[in-house]
Amino acid sequence: MSTAGRATRPELVPLASRIRWTVAFRVVLILLPPLMWQLLPGARSGEWASLGFAAAGYLAFLLITLPLPRLGRPVALTMFLASLLVDGIYLAWAFHLLNGLAGPVGYLVTLHIVAVTLLVSFRSGLRLALWHSLLAFAVLQAEAAQVLGLTMTPVFPVEGFATYLGVLWITALATATFAAVNERELRRRRYDTEVLRRFAQALEAIDDPARILAALAGLARQELLATRVAVLARPQGDASVPGVSGVLGTVVTLAGDGVPLFVDAPDELAPGSLVAQALATREPVLSTRVNPGADDWLLDLLPGLHHVVVVPFALNDQLDGALVFEYGPVKGLGRTASVERRLLATAQQAAAQATMALGRALLLQRLRTAAETDGLTKVANRRMFDVTLEREAAQTRRTGGSFAVALVDLDFFKSLNDEHGHLVGDDVLRGTAQAIRETCRDGDLAARYGGEEFAVIFTHVTADQAAVAAERVRSAIQRADVSVPVTASIGVATFPDHADDPRELLALADESLYLAKSAGRNRVVVAGLDGEKPRMVPRPRASEPRPADRSH
Ligand code: GH3
Ligand code: MG
Ligand code: MG
Repeated sequence: MSTAGRATRPELVPLASRIRWTVAFRVVLILLPPLMWQLLPGARSGEWASLGFAAAGYLAFLLITLPLPRLGRPVALTMFLASLLVDGIYLAWAFHLLNGLAGPVGYLVTLHIVAVTLLVSFRSGLRLALWHSLLAFAVLQAEAAQVLGLTMTPVFPVEGFATYLGVLWITALATATFAAVNERELRRRRYDTEVLRRFAQALEAIDDPARILAALAGLARQELLATRVAVLARPQGDASVPGVSGVLGTVVTLAGDGVPLFVDAPDELAPGSLVAQALATREPVLSTRVNPGADDWLLDLLPGLHHVVVVPFALNDQLDGALVFEYGPVKGLGRTASVERRLLATAQQAAAQATMALGRALLLQRLRTAAETDGLTKVANRRMFDVTLEREAAQTRRTGGSFAVALVDLDFFKSLNDEHGHLVGDDVLRGTAQAIRETCRDGDLAARYGGEEFAVIFTHVTADQAAVAAERVRSAIQRADVSVPVTASIGVATFPDHADDPRELLALADESLYLAKSAGRNRVVVAGLDGEKPRMVPRPRASEPRPADRSH
């Protein structure tokens, strides 16, 4: 791990807060030996003066070191660790003055180790235990050698010291172990929280529903240690309104390299399906095996699927689905019940986040579609047409080639409305729009230009091909499946042959349309090239049923 990485590693409790607690604890530690001196006369074996001197010196040391943490983290840390050594020396002196092994200071030493293990780290706790052991040994040795005064027994108390060490180390090790377990659990939770935070952040930048589902699958693979994963998403209620992403009704799986693969979702979930069960109970389902016949679609996608977790999700009446993943034993990773609970909780939260992101993405998609679609006829609206025309012109200028615009105006539509009413008129407009759209190729655009006028952009066509395409549109309108037959007149102009400016192009198409009207309607007129007159596109000879003549 890099130094920078270490510096930014999150801490369970910030250093500053731990130092504050340690200072408070140290004040208690300073005051306790003099207090013990007063309260336990039998424990005294040294002089009050030396104890008072040591306590005062230690307090002074503490006061001097108090402002040091402000000098920065490295200084704070060094001081912190150095002060632990001084703690040891002070306690060793108190240990000597308060009757050694028979006195009460041993308890303070143990308390000191416990506090440091919990406040600093279990490694520091163990190092401190070693320091205290050495100091106690040194004090007892010095006492035995009569170096510290003549009141002590001049023998080293082997048994007493062994017991003292035993208690000290058992406490140190037990505290260190429990603290490590606790810390690990906290770190894991922190990690999970971090994973979910990052996932939420990543989702914020995605407004494509398909990519949201793929991101959920990716998270299961990377963070939930899923060996294989599938995400099912189904539309509910009116989510199938036009414009809402086709991703609903699919299942996303991940290829070996993490690339998302989309396949059709099953039409219905069979009885006994784990996914159906999870969706019905709204609770995750864990199962060691997938029953053939119940979730065959899953087994087809992920053959031999076993040890499966199904986490359901639903977004009110718009969609539901499930994150399905396999949690087969992972090499080198012991799976315990608590690990599984953790993964499950993370999976549930991730699925909930993805569901919210899906809701947002679908809403956005609906709004976009609504802003680009004509409400009555469901083809593109005028705004979308204008934008597409500009874009097509710019692209054709860049890449060369040509495209054409056809303006389509229904004939005698006012009379149709007058005779049959506006509702029938609307119905005919819808049917006509549908007929126009069906004649378009991929890349073409059919739009409602206004009233009973439509506009079509034929991409990658010459003037001649555009004439053929427009004639196809005229014929399709005449044959459209509508309650009252209707015909249309069409004017066509090609970019850049007739005009290399979108506005001019439209004006020429409109002019041609006007000519088609005045030439008797129900026909296609193509703008003339190089000052030539506009050209009438011949209709097929086979006489089509003429709609009722509403010319008068
Ligand atoms: P022509 O184009 O052949 O010259 O005759 P027309 O009767 O179609 O000509 P005009 O453009 O004058 O009339 C267009 C009519 O289309 C007027 C209006 O009643 C009708 N119309 C426009 N928008 C709608 C609509 O949204 N619904 C219905 N039902 N009618 C519409
Ligand atoms: Mg009109
Ligand atoms: Mg008209």
